[in-house]
Amino acid sequence: MPEYICTMGPSILNTEKIVELYQLGLRTIRFNMSHIDYDIAEVLQMIRDAERIVGNKISTMLDTCGSEIRVQMDRPRTLLIGDTLTLGEELTLNVPYHNILELGDVLKIDDGKIIVKVISKNPFLLSSLTNGKIKNGSGVFSEKLSRTLTFIPEKDTKSFHLAFHNDMDWVACSFVKSAEDIKNVKALRSQYPNCKTKIMAKIETREAMEDLDNIIAISDGIMIARGDLGVAFPIYMITTLQNYIAGKVIAAGIPLTIGTGFLRSMKRNPIPEKAEVSDLYYAFTLTNSIMFSGETAVADEPANILKTANSIFKTLEDSKQKDKIYEKIFL
Ligand code: PGA
Ligand code: MN
Repeated sequence: MPEYICTMGPSILNTEKIVELYQLGLRTIRFNMSHIDYDIAEVLQMIRDAERIVGNKISTMLDTCGSEIRVQMDRPRTLLIGDTLTLGEELTLNVPYHNILELGDVLKIDDGKIIVKVISKNPFLLSSLTNGKIKNGSGVFSEKLSRTLTFIPEKDTKSFHLAFHNDMDWVACSFVKSAEDIKNVKALRSQYPNCKTKIMAKIETREAMEDLDNIIAISDGIMIARGDLGVAFPIYMITTLQNYIAGKVIAAGIPLTIGTGFLRSMKRNPIPEKAEVSDLYYAFTLTNSIMFSGETAVADEPANILKTANSIFKTLEDSKQKDKIYEKIFL
């Protein structure tokens, strides 16, 4: 049976919903520290209440923010191809960039939907290669800037302590770059002598791909974080990367979960896109653990989404018994 990691959010913020989703395969609740609009202590209490009702354990996972690069700007701006922006005036970044970005470098903004290129350094001008809208808080990917960032920013130190203090089952580490980063998290954990929190490395940077074997060797579990991984690499590589990582994690015999974007269109629609069905079906051939983000946190009907995922899983299981599927299709 599938086991889902469901991201907490307004759509499932009560004990009844947690119980309903548990019956459909929820086994872990994920706190995404980048989007906390609820009280974690209250949710931990709801989880304990739900556990009493279902008579089983429900795991918890704290997912850190990581050192993300974000756009800072006063008002949104609609861009057309060829439009220019002044970096440092109309928009700026939350990290130093002056001596790092060079002419010709590109920034991918908002999951790569907007791409801008450095065309002058004095003044710092960016030219848009795409049409789209850019707004305050949008995430930015830049290979060069990403390499300059340290793994544990200050806000994450607090998150790690929160996870260890509450002895959460998992802490998922965002934007891990090397096995050394996981060692540092373990050092923080050792300050809590009885803490059993397991460490999951999220694979979502180029650097993590370069140190993948060592990261797998030192982590308790791996998440293929396809959202950011699909921006760090060209999007058409995502399935190859997924297979490559999954193969190594399965060989190592540690828990593997794959996340992001599986049934995104179902946040508002009652049925999935065909490509989404195919994507999830294929992921189920690699692992039965799937991480849902907006599909549970902010969807109209999270239960319908888990039911759909279960039907996709069942179709895969049925197809392993050919007679059964032919009977169902033709009779
Ligand atoms: P996020 O991580 O939701 O914290 O960005 C998952 C991903 O990048 O796929
Ligand atoms: Mn991510």
